[in-house]
Amino acid sequence: MAGMRLAVLSDVHSNLEALDAVLRNAAADRVVVLGDLVGYGADPAAVVERLRDASATLLAGNHDLAATGRFDLEWFNRVAAEALVWTVEHAGDAVLEELSRLSPVLRDGDRILVHGSVRDPAAEYLRDVAGATASFAAEQFTFGFYGHTHVPFFYEQDGGAVQGRIPRDGDSLVLEAGTRYLMNPGSVGQPRDGDARASCLLVEDGVVTWQRVDYDVQAAQRKIRAAGLPEVLADRLSVGR
Ligand code: ZN
Repeated sequence: MAGMRLAVLSDVHSNLEALDAVLRNAAADRVVVLGDLVGYGADPAAVVERLRDASATLLAGNHDLAATGRFDLEWFNRVAAEALVWTVEHAGDAVLEELSRLSPVLRDGDRILVHGSVRDPAAEYLRDVAGATASFAAEQFTFGFYGHTHVPFFYEQDGGAVQGRIPRDGDSLVLEAGTRYLMNPGSVGQPRDGDARASCLLVEDGVVTWQRVDYDVQAAQRKIRAAGLPEVLADRLSVGR
C-alpha cells in the first residue's frame, strides 16, 4: 500500500523504555512484533498492554511460549529460566492468557513472519547461509521476517544463491522483484551486536530501513535491579551484549 509505513520489531523482552522509544520514533501505521515480548526485563504486563494499544500484530517467541507452558524451561540457561519464573509470577493472568494465544509463525500473502526460522519458527537461530538456505526452501514466500538472534541482519536469494549481510543504522534495502528476502530487525529490548540502542526496521514504499533508537537504558536497568531479577540482565543493556 503506497505511503503505508510498517514497523517490524522483535525481542522486546519486557523492556518498556526501549519499546516506547521505538514506537515513538517509528511513527508507523502498522506494527508487527516477531515474538519474545517478555522474559529478561521488568515490565511484561506494561509491554503487552502497550502493544495491544498500538494494535500490533504479535507473534510468540520461545520466551512467550515458555511463559505459557508451551516450551521446555530446561532449554534455557539459568538466568533466562529465572527471569521466566519471575515473569510468570508478575505478568498477571490476563497478559499470560493473551500470550497463550500467540503463534511463532504467521502467513500473510507473500510474507511470512517467524520468531526463529521458517524451518523451525520457535527455536532455530538463523545465523548462517546454510540455515537461511534451508528456510528459503522450507516454504514459498517472498518476504520473510525473523528475530530470535537479537542481531539485525538480512539474507537475499536471487535465483539460487543466498547471501547475507549485517545492515548498519540507517542502511536501506530497495526490495527487487524476483528476489526473496529474510530480514531481521534486531532486538528492541536486549540488543546483542555491541550497540546498546534499541533496533527495529521500517518498510515503506518497497524500501526497508534499519533504525537504531536511543532510550533510557538506566531506567530499564533500575527496574530490573528493583525487581530482584539477575544483575547481569541489567548490566548487559549498557553494552548491547
Ligand atoms: Zn529473544
